[in-house]
Amino acid sequence: MATQFEQRPEDGSVMLPAATIAGTRYGASNREAGNAIHNASTGEIIGWQEHADAAQVDAAVRAVRAARAALDAWRSRTPESRGNVLRKIAESIAADRARLSAMQQRVSGKPALEADTDVSDAIATFHYYADLCADTSLFAADTLALPDDTVTGERQYEAVGVAALIVPWNFPMVTTAWKIAPALAAGCTVVLKPSEFTSPVEHLLAEIMTAAGVPDGVVNLVNGGGEVGALLVAHPLVDKISFTGSTAVGRKVMQAAAQDMKRVTLELGGKSALIVRADADIEHAVALAVGGAFTNAGQMCSATSRVIVHDDVYRKFMAIFEAAVRALVIAPPQTENVSMGPLVSLAQRARVQALLEQGLADGATIAFSGALDNACAQGFFMAPVVVAEPNTANVLWTDEVFGPVACVKSFRTDDEAIALANDTRYGLVATVVTRDDGAARRYRNALRAGLVWINTPQLIFPQVSWGGLGLSGIGRELGLAGLRSYQELRHCIVSRG
Ligand code: NAD
Repeated sequence: MATQFEQRPEDGSVMLPAATIAGTRYGASNREAGNAIHNASTGEIIGWQEHADAAQVDAAVRAVRAARAALDAWRSRTPESRGNVLRKIAESIAADRARLSAMQQRVSGKPALEADTDVSDAIATFHYYADLCADTSLFAADTLALPDDTVTGERQYEAVGVAALIVPWNFPMVTTAWKIAPALAAGCTVVLKPSEFTSPVEHLLAEIMTAAGVPDGVVNLVNGGGEVGALLVAHPLVDKISFTGSTAVGRKVMQAAAQDMKRVTLELGGKSALIVRADADIEHAVALAVGGAFTNAGQMCSATSRVIVHDDVYRKFMAIFEAAVRALVIAPPQTENVSMGPLVSLAQRARVQALLEQGLADGATIAFSGALDNACAQGFFMAPVVVAEPNTANVLWTDEVFGPVACVKSFRTDDEAIALANDTRYGLVATVVTRDDGAARRYRNALRAGLVWINTPQLIFPQVSWGGLGLSGIGRELGLAGLRSYQELRHCIVSRG
């Protein structure tokens, strides 16, 4: 891809084209035909992206063609050669860390530490898949022992083809790296559609990838909202869709993909639990609850927004939790000691506040909340809220709020805690805080979640696959499973005669 990201020196505003396909920009970032991009901390417009329907429809179709044309060349390279490009991308992201982190802070209002962690995650992901590319056994055909000595069997993994990658706005660096790195490692070419709210981050990343040596047409990018995403999903030349977003849109993606039996990976919503047993280190449990519920202003698929606390320690937990939430510094990203930033947009804040009001109207009560200071007057900030003992039918207990709202409920027995935690159709993650190893094992086996953390914060490693049960999605990203999700498994049986 050619350089496509422009930051105008006079006011720093970003201008994004409608699409970048095989190195060519489409659309001139015509403000009149575009949508604005905001700074979430101040509400001010910091840039524009072209959003002309007809151009984007055309661009999306051409993007798929470009990815097809580049496919043969890219997938016929050796895995080592693809791995070298991935390694170079990781090194280039590391070298450009400051710019990427600053753009994340600017667009989403993430505190500097969180924005920087996202960059580190992307670097680690590209390094990990570069390492996998060095293991040729993951790509080469191998022989299978068969119970018939007149034949031999061969097994082979090969690139699935053109992958459409559709990502949300809450971790733009991270969700994009989790898709692009394994897709390129497998030998796929991709068309990426970033979220319309945070696309400058991916445009910057795309520029870095181009400079790192990704050949033209291997990574293509189209801007737009749901309508462009739907076009990509429906396009007959797309072989695989990897989608991260809401369960509601995930359903539509899966339905559309069924038409051509496209391969799908869906990373969707969650309503995860954090369980605090009576034997837990309560200070530590509170730290995990604050991180699990309010990191990224609660805009996390893995938010442990249902905190389930043993009766015996409930009062102590709530007292320390209240002090911790009241002490949170909610402020723009560069503020000293900032602990929580704004929500991503005005619309997202209105959505979260409407859900909160609905929950309160249905009988939930606020136990305590954090405070905003004057620096938060302009942006899309919202104070963190903790709701105590909501009814299990209350919307705040049942639905993904995707904002800084946590519920706390008490329990008496482990069976009760497990039943409460599993009382959801989602199944992304869970956290258990306990000093009892036996209990930890029982919880780990009983909780319906793709990943269970015991006494740890939400640690994520590229080696550990990510994904959920039930309404949280289908398939896994990261780890070897992440690579395999961009490969087709094929076999051949050959007569020895
Ligand atoms: P969203 O579903 O509204 O949008 C996600 C992406 O899909 C965006 O790029 C959007 O433009 C696109 N899109 C919208 N309609 C489409 C359609 N019909 N066809 C194809 N694409 C379409 O989600 P969001 O509001 O951007 O993100 C929040 C959601 O993402 C939450 O539900 C959260 O739990 C989920 N999420 C999940 C994970 C995970 O790993 N499981 C990670 C991050 C976010």
